[in-house]
Amino acid sequence: MKNLVVGAGFSGAVIAALIANKFNEEVLVIDKKNHIAGNCYDYRDENGIMIHKYGSHIFHTNSEKVWHFVRQFGNFNQYMHKVYAVIDGIETTIPFNFNTLYNVFPETLAKKLEEKLLKQFKFNTKVPILEFQKQNDEDLKFLANYIYEKIFLHYTLKQWGVSPDGVDGAVTARVPVYLSKDNRYFQDKYQGIPLNGYTKLIEKMLNHPKIKVELNTEFLNQKADRIFYTGAIDEYFDYKLGQLPYRSVRFEYETHNREFYQQNSVVNYPCNYDFTRIHEYKHYLNDKSDKTVIAKEYSENFVIGSNERYYPVPKDENTKLYNQYLELAKQESNVYFLGRLGDYKYYDMDKAILRAIELFEGITNA
Ligand code: UDP
Repeated sequence: MKNLVVGAGFSGAVIAALIANKFNEEVLVIDKKNHIAGNCYDYRDENGIMIHKYGSHIFHTNSEKVWHFVRQFGNFNQYMHKVYAVIDGIETTIPFNFNTLYNVFPETLAKKLEEKLLKQFKFNTKVPILEFQKQNDEDLKFLANYIYEKIFLHYTLKQWGVSPDGVDGAVTARVPVYLSKDNRYFQDKYQGIPLNGYTKLIEKMLNHPKIKVELNTEFLNQKADRIFYTGAIDEYFDYKLGQLPYRSVRFEYETHNREFYQQNSVVNYPCNYDFTRIHEYKHYLNDKSDKTVIAKEYSENFVIGSNERYYPVPKDENTKLYNQYLELAKQESNVYFLGRLGDYKYYDMDKAILRAIELFEGITNA
């Protein structure tokens, strides 16, 4: 076998498409799941609503290369994601910004804080919460503690099982305090949801006479000239150095006999309930139905054999263990590891795609 790709998610599909199109070589893509698209998998349910089986996926990128690449396989709408959060019973948007400030505080207090913030920080800048906490001014200290407590602490405890300082600062920095009035969750130049869904987009990537896809197929050390492995790197090596920790997610679905359940696709509940957030999928593609489907998201530890890997857990000791696996990987000269699980990195979709494209660019067609 010339090329074997393990995993039919974005990383696997991108590398398979590039090998087939640019090298004109045969590629076998295997996936142990019964569907392609990995955790980006979506499908239309009986109500005609596009469900993101593994939770909301919103495409956003600043990379021209990535945007150009994905649009060969499908068009996107112009959805720009916002996240609502319920804080002390008040529905507002996060990241915390000047609008949030005025939503949650009385106007005079908000104004005072706004003035102090603008003296301290430049307008339109982003400050990670762990950085934002380093304040000398009493009022700003109060604000920092408020944001930490109401938005980050309990959500992070639910999501990661530890407080924000128990995971790498980059995790909470994904949702920085934003000195702005921009309510969007992402500021990337290109944003949207594929009009026909992620599964169809990835199906089109894999639709090539040289690409063969086999589902329900485990990797059992099949041999190939090149192996692109997008599964978990610790599993590849039979966990010989120990297990890399992951967080998993469980969704509880509900169908409601009304047009909308909530105003927005995602509403976070940082301080209430045991779930982290509620997804309402029909918002993404403006699906029309007199019913709506929501999913309450609960985080849990990943346990081999009982649930799926969703998130690598970014922190030093895990990176150290990953680096040891990486050393082993260097000895497997024809095996390329990539993707969230192969690289043990908290990639967004665009970063996983870019990684696959760049990996391909480093390979020569001997
Ligand atoms: N976060 C939080 N409260 C929120 C939203 C995010 O504390 O309301 C923190 C939490 O630690 C979370 C991280 O920021 O895991 C990254 O959030 P993001 O929405 O990027 O996570 P994802 O959508 O990838 O699950």
